[in-house]
Amino acid sequence: MSTRRRLFIQLVPVAGGGLLAGRAWSQAMVDEKDPQAAALGYVADAAKVDKAKYPKFAAGQACASCALFQAKAGAASGPCPLFPAKQVSAKGWCSAYAKKP
Ligand code: SF4
Repeated sequence: MSTRRRLFIQLVPVAGGGLLAGRAWSQAMVDEKDPQAAALGYVADAAKVDKAKYPKFAAGQACASCALFQAKAGAASGPCPLFPAKQVSAKGWCSAYAKKP
């Protein structure tokens, strides 16, 4: 086996692992303009909720206190099953908000 080929075989798993780790780290934030986000009225800052459009919104509601928010307590952002492979802001809100029991 040539040295070049051996080097390639050794480097590929490292590069692949790096890509996976990189993806986990830099999971994109949900864009408010994404069709799914717009449909659910998601905003990254709950203070900006359109209260006329979403009268059920109550002050103090945010992703951080939503049952669907899947981040550790205190995290600034985390996954939400409504937005696969993306992160929502802990300070965000959408019309599917359900208070943590
Ligand atoms: S379902 Fe809950 S955690 Fe997900 S975006 Fe809406 S308010 Fe945030």
